[in-house]
Amino acid sequence: MNRARLLVFNPVLSVLDYRVPDGMAVEPGSVVIAPLGPRQLLGIVWEPERLPGDAVPEAKLRPLLELLPVPPLPAPLRRLIEWTADYYVAPMNAVARMAIGSMAALRGGGTTTEYRLSGLEPKRLTPQRAAAMDALHGEQASIRELAEYASVSDGVLRGMVSAGLLEPVTVDLDRPYPRARAEHHQPELSEDQQRAATRFVEAVAARTFQPFLLDGVTGSGKTECYFEGIAEALRLDRQVLVLLPEIALTENFLRRFEARFGVPPVLWHSSLKASERRRAWRSIVSGQAQVVVGARSALFLPYRNLGLIVVDEAHEISFKQDDGVRYNARDVAVIRAKFESIPVILASATPALESMQLAEAGVYEKIELPARFGGAELPSITTVDLRTEQPARGKWLSPRLVAEMQERLERGEQSLLFLNRRGYAPLTLCRHCGYRFQCPNCSAWLVEHRFTRRLACHHCGHQTATPEECPECHTPDCLVACGPGVERIADEVTELFPEARVAVVTSDTLNSPEKINAFVAAAEEKLIDVIVGTQLVTKGYHFPDLTLVGVVDADMGLEGGDLRAGERTYQQIAQVAGRAGRGEKPGEVLIQTRHPEAAVIAALAKGDRDAFYSAETEARRDAGAPPFGRWAAIIVSSEDEAEARDAARAIGGARPTVQDVLILGPAPAPLSLLRGRYRYRLLINARRSVQLQDIIREWLGQLNFPQSVRVGVDIDPYSFV
Ligand SMILES: [Zn+2]
Ligand SMILES: [Zn+2]
Repeated sequence: MNRARLLVFNPVLSVLDYRVPDGMAVEPGSVVIAPLGPRQLLGIVWEPERLPGDAVPEAKLRPLLELLPVPPLPAPLRRLIEWTADYYVAPMNAVARMAIGSMAALRGGGTTTEYRLSGLEPKRLTPQRAAAMDALHGEQASIRELAEYASVSDGVLRGMVSAGLLEPVTVDLDRPYPRARAEHHQPELSEDQQRAATRFVEAVAARTFQPFLLDGVTGSGKTECYFEGIAEALRLDRQVLVLLPEIALTENFLRRFEARFGVPPVLWHSSLKASERRRAWRSIVSGQAQVVVGARSALFLPYRNLGLIVVDEAHEISFKQDDGVRYNARDVAVIRAKFESIPVILASATPALESMQLAEAGVYEKIELPARFGGAELPSITTVDLRTEQPARGKWLSPRLVAEMQERLERGEQSLLFLNRRGYAPLTLCRHCGYRFQCPNCSAWLVEHRFTRRLACHHCGHQTATPEECPECHTPDCLVACGPGVERIADEVTELFPEARVAVVTSDTLNSPEKINAFVAAAEEKLIDVIVGTQLVTKGYHFPDLTLVGVVDADMGLEGGDLRAGERTYQQIAQVAGRAGRGEKPGEVLIQTRHPEAAVIAALAKGDRDAFYSAETEARRDAGAPPFGRWAAIIVSSEDEAEARDAARAIGGARPTVQDVLILGPAPAPLSLLRGRYRYRLLINARRSVQLQDIIREWLGQLNFPQSVRVGVDIDPYSFV
């Protein structure tokens, strides 16, 4: 091979040809450095017939500069990158970017210096050093990472190094991970679990593509079943990828994993330290990493020898990425398994309707776990009709829910109140002039956070201190909170039960693994009586003395721009209901609603999952929605409103006329201003048989837009804000 076609990481160019210098052996998948003008860029050698581009004449070819010392990206991964780019109408280099680690990871080798507390106890400390000593207990990282962690400057920590309070540690960047053992601790499985586990073991041993839907109520022991599939992969010396939705929430999972296999798995998520990320990437590439547990971004890594993929909580919306490459990790996981010829297990207590349909059609093998493990019973669920059982004025908890909480407090049991809204109140206004606090960057209200005394935008992160007076009419103390957030519910609980120990659980309060662990420990030791939380509390936890779940506002999820609002509401409430009664004591769930007759609420109250799925199936069929029809969205944005509108109109004006394709819009997006960009949307609804991606590619391909306009395509969108 004396000529190579590269997929390069450049926003404008994506395909370039080069000459392979003598003595450099490249093959498809090789990662190389190439010249571009005076600069250097990273590229992946690709099969030219799969990567169309203008061939550069022989005489003009420039030589490649360097072949990086990593194994070539395997062919199944290259096919996955092509498929993902094609299906989601995304640039191929943007997809390939997700497979590549940092430059440091690509070069490999060497050591780095990290720091940790030396154990020296000085007599006197500055307040900053004292705070750092507290924060850094048990930590080891680079000075910069430690400084960020302890919220002090690098200078403070460098001073502590000089004073001998912090000591340097030389870290081998490529040190191997301890080996997991398939037979470390074999659990006792129920008959149903054993049946499921046996199927997974067979499928892993067979080394062929086989998708499974593992469908079991919360607490039925799905994890133990797929752990047996993992054990078989370990015996065969093959790698396993486990995708989890909220990686921060995995403490409970990690403990169970370690109990089963003797060591923790290799982690992959966005808050890894640079050295951990590098080590993980290199061990994944070399095949040394046996089991990788990660967020959706772990899906595109270059596993050397993958034998099984598990997607746990497969219905979770966080598997859908909503910016950059807009892909759904659950769906791409199945495609990866197909290219790798391995089994894939989608596990859920509330599977997505799309997954249920594929199971019914026989594409997925469905494995059911009907009962809760250890004989624990499912909680009893009742609705509270807020139209007749009204909370006190300005309050949110109905008398019946309050009475049930009172009983739990008297019995020394725990209650959980669920409201999927962070902060104190979703809208703050001036009582005097009616002024409303709006985000300057987004068409959204600022949410009051009373703990931190700030008003925050939940879309762009804009924050401002809560003012003492109205910025419009300057009346002091005139701001009123409208609507409930978890902090406000926690206040209401404290007013009702001043003795109760209340914990607020949101991504604001539990924003690190340490804080999550501290919360879990406090709840397990019964140092908490009432948990008030967002969807963060809907999964993963087992608190045996938690016997009451109150859903504060079941109707909230049915509003807004979610194309699967009914399904999502069902999943969230079913998941949070599953937190009740996980021990020997039975659980009870109260759902507060103004629409007890709505299909989703009625199905929840009856505990009739089939009724929900059949009502939702009918509604989707009528609407031509997935899985019966297809959706796509085109999102146009610019910092200039007129420019965004003109581009959206140009797209609308060029709309193709195709049978069985309905194009709606352009219209301002519900969130018409986001992070300072004005947004317009078009929604496309088509029959299943239509080649939607080809139509969109051809449609947009004939148009040109100013550089400052972004045009994004969202295939199978979840959100329509
Ligand atoms: Zn005012
Ligand atoms: Zn904002």
